[in-house]
Amino acid sequence: MNDNDFPATPMMQQYRELKARDPEALLLFRMGDFYEMFGDDAERAGQLLGLTVTSRDKGPNPMPMAGFPHPALEAYLAKLVQHGVRAAVCEQVEDPKQAKGIVKREIVRVVTPGTLTDDNLLDPRAANYLAAIVESKGKLGLAWVELSTGRFSLTSVLRNELNDELARLSPAEVLISETALDTPWSKVLRTHCTAPITSRPSWDFQADQARQALFDHFRVTTLGGFGIDDDAPEVQSAGALIAYLRETQKSSLGHLTRLTPHHRAGILAIDEMTRRSLELTRTLREVKREGSLLQVIDRTSTPMGARLLSEWLMAPLTSLDAINARHDAVAELLADSMLRADLREAMGDAHDLERLAARIGTGRATPRDLVALGRTLSILPRIKARLTARKSARLCELETMLELCPEVRTAIEEAIVPDPPLAMREGGLIREGYHSALDELREIARGGKSWIAKFQAEQVRRTGINGLKVGFNKVFGYYIEITHAQGAKVPGDYIRKQTVKNAERYITPELKEYEDKVLRAEDRAFELEYELFIGLRDRVSADAPRLIQAGAVLAEVDVLTGLAELAAKQGYCRPEMMQEPVLEIEHGRHPVLDVLLPPGEFVPNDVKMGGDNGSIVLITGPNMAGKSTYIRQVALASVLAQMGSFLPARRAKLGVVDRLFARVGATDELSRGQSTFMVEMTETANILNNATPRSLVILDEIGRGTSTFDGVSLAWAITEHLHDNVGCRTLFATHYHELVDLEKTKPGLRNANVAVKEDQGDVVFLHRIVPGGADQSYGIHVGRLAGLPTNVLDRAREILAFLEKQHRPETNAPAPGQQQAPAKVMPRVKSARALQVSLFAALPDPLLNELRGIDVATLTPEAALELIQRLKDLAG
Ligand code: ADP
Repeated sequence: MNDNDFPATPMMQQYRELKARDPEALLLFRMGDFYEMFGDDAERAGQLLGLTVTSRDKGPNPMPMAGFPHPALEAYLAKLVQHGVRAAVCEQVEDPKQAKGIVKREIVRVVTPGTLTDDNLLDPRAANYLAAIVESKGKLGLAWVELSTGRFSLTSVLRNELNDELARLSPAEVLISETALDTPWSKVLRTHCTAPITSRPSWDFQADQARQALFDHFRVTTLGGFGIDDDAPEVQSAGALIAYLRETQKSSLGHLTRLTPHHRAGILAIDEMTRRSLELTRTLREVKREGSLLQVIDRTSTPMGARLLSEWLMAPLTSLDAINARHDAVAELLADSMLRADLREAMGDAHDLERLAARIGTGRATPRDLVALGRTLSILPRIKARLTARKSARLCELETMLELCPEVRTAIEEAIVPDPPLAMREGGLIREGYHSALDELREIARGGKSWIAKFQAEQVRRTGINGLKVGFNKVFGYYIEITHAQGAKVPGDYIRKQTVKNAERYITPELKEYEDKVLRAEDRAFELEYELFIGLRDRVSADAPRLIQAGAVLAEVDVLTGLAELAAKQGYCRPEMMQEPVLEIEHGRHPVLDVLLPPGEFVPNDVKMGGDNGSIVLITGPNMAGKSTYIRQVALASVLAQMGSFLPARRAKLGVVDRLFARVGATDELSRGQSTFMVEMTETANILNNATPRSLVILDEIGRGTSTFDGVSLAWAITEHLHDNVGCRTLFATHYHELVDLEKTKPGLRNANVAVKEDQGDVVFLHRIVPGGADQSYGIHVGRLAGLPTNVLDRAREILAFLEKQHRPETNAPAPGQQQAPAKVMPRVKSARALQVSLFAALPDPLLNELRGIDVATLTPEAALELIQRLKDLAG
């Protein structure tokens, strides 16, 4: 529907003008006590916010309209932002009573998912980035900014690296040029990135324009001082971000004081698939924070600490010195439990200093924000004192960096009352005694009652009218009320104003003069309070960069203390870090299961790789035995150690990993239109092409998306390649027993399997990893756990026994003591397909036909349930 079709009342004309300024934004149009939306916006709002859509006029072409009362604004904005919608808030900017004609209205705020600063619209524990991407000079320039804290960074990436970088950042909104909408990378972006993508004018991204926008903002003539090349592609994206912020934020961007180049060299590269497989910040299936690594290791006490922890987890370090610096700090905080407790207690009282400082910088802080800032500043001396004379270099650095900003704190404490109201223009913000003119005005405004009492008594005496009363109402202000019965005594200088039942109301010049003074005093007091507050806020905003730095220090102290607390509570050990590619863990645990399982239930395991211990561990064993858990826990150990944490283990020795690759667990890629097998092979190709001798690779069940022959062959060849050509530390879990033969010719490969206890036909998985290959599948056992009917299980056992009896596998491998094998050992695959044909040929039953297709070893519980349903259907 076209809004231009609607009748052109002056107000609708005003609406249309405002709407045209940002046609894509949903316009919330203030009308009295309501925000209204019209036309398409009303329909959209109706759907997204569950509002009733009515129509404004009843003509042949009624205009849809929806609205909500003004106090509900923040709640509805939050909902719109969650839906990725940009909203423009339009207010009445003059008093309707004073307006000549139509009330003046302006868009005072544009709220977009990537530019939030309000606490109640933000998740305190997560960063909220606005990102911009541009293609230039064969690369993608990427810049991101967090308006709520003032961080502003940039880097450039290759096309195939974009998804991984975006997965790390997880932006809330992405800007691209309108001319880039059809590029291949933007199409990929749209399929992989859940954030709303906002298209922007192409000139914002043009090199000259973008550079100039940054020069103007930072008041520089080159970005060299930030360590950035003026011609780099990412500069174009950063410039486009500034242009967008200028347009949407009707306030200062003074807190964006620095551009920080993001150097990926010092960071452990973790691709998107690996992050997801390892459930670093979200679980794989439910995509929730609960159950992720982040959730269990988060012992921070402040929101800024929680955000920094998440950042560290998404970008572990690769420099040995930097990792050791964090470990030293954690060790010191772990050893001194009093220090830890004191710091945690102090930080428990801290507000979100980073976001407060940013709101102050953008001129958005409320009186309550200033009070929160004052309170947070008041705990800094305690924290600084506790960080003084520490052993670890990082804690000493943090102590030096922490500025107490006492003058800011004093200024706030002297000026603002401890518990100011939300409204900023209705008084009650400034302390008594802070400003003498304000005190006088307040005195006059408050003095009203005693003056009136005195005046009333005087008038009674003068007129002899005992029932004379002084009253006040909104229309007439102060008046003298005299009953009709005593009307005869009214003095001549009284001016009659109003007749009410039984009485007359009068005024006198003296009374009116006083009234003016009182009312003006109150108004002026409110105004003055507001001015004093704004003055204070401006003064404090000059300190925003120092405050932001204090916030960053608090965040880091919080993260380090939290990691020490985690180590203390969960019995973690300090890993010994080195350059050599070793990986030795004694009594290692999976950090998440360690917390989630009842105490003592998790079975710890060892791992020993590197040097004489070989570089590949091949873990064979049945499903549900604990293979994935084991290989994941090893990968998580590297992530934890390199982000600065201690490890859930008794002892650990880790060589720094440069890239981590994990392919674990089923992922639902089908919705993206690719077959599971294709996805699996693409990911494996990525690993084989990019892993270096310092990388860590963990693979789970590679090749299961295809037939057994194909699968075994691929898994075999992949393992050989990793062993012969890459030589990186690799843990490979598989249920293809055939692969155990690889150990015979690959000196760097060790077999391992999961110990199983058999008890009168029942099988117990001990979750203990032991040397050697497994030789049984126990798939039927898993089928029982999944609830397959007993007759199916019995029959499966019968068939298995038959198969095993009939077809003992022939061995291609050399018998002990014989000559070495030929140059290449071939897998000894049990020729399953041939066997199946001969076995089932005599049994032409549809039920058995179905059974024939089952690969019990890879059956998931869900698939098993579906299967049972199908079998039941077949049975009739
Ligand atoms: P697989 O990869 O061999 O199929 P998983 O690693 O998925 O097996 O583990 C199967 C189940 O066993 C999981 O539910 C897990 O909780 C449990 N488990 C795995 N390893 C251990 C362990 N070391 N201690 C206790 N429980 C474990």
